[in-house]
Amino acid sequence: MSPWRHLQSVPRISDHTGSATAVKKVKSWYTECLSSHQLCLQASTPQLPTRVIRIEGPFKARVHTPGVERSEYACLSHRWGGQVMIRTTTLTLGQYSVQLPWDELPKTYQDAIQFAHALGFSYIWIDSLCQFPFLVICARPGFPQLTRS
Ligand SMILES: [Zn+2]
Repeated sequence: MSPWRHLQSVPRISDHTGSATAVKKVKSWYTECLSSHQLCLQASTPQLPTRVIRIEGPFKARVHTPGVERSEYACLSHRWGGQVMIRTTTLTLGQYSVQLPWDELPKTYQDAIQFAHALGFSYIWIDSLCQFPFLVICARPGFPQLTRS
């Protein structure tokens, strides 16, 4: 049976995820989640992952290595498709820890960071920027099965 069977479709809120109407609606869902869902009330503030993006403004973010800090954070779940995403490697970690090159980020990443910022999150986890050393599995003949960047 589908785990989504309890979800119902809702009327369209806005044409743009970043609109004030959309942000306000999602904030209200999040507030309701934290204040009235039995399981969510019992959840403690999570420890941040090994690496996470620290959001410092609507157009400013950097890779952060938090240690044992606890904080709520957003996660971007997305399809990679055939694109080679910008990613943190041994060569880029130093630069990205100071500031991510905003103009080089895919629009999906920019939108997710801006939306998380609008919702009040200070952190967001994005796989290609936060998994490090990045593991690439390639099954094509002639390519290594597993590589570390
Ligand atoms: Zn909830």
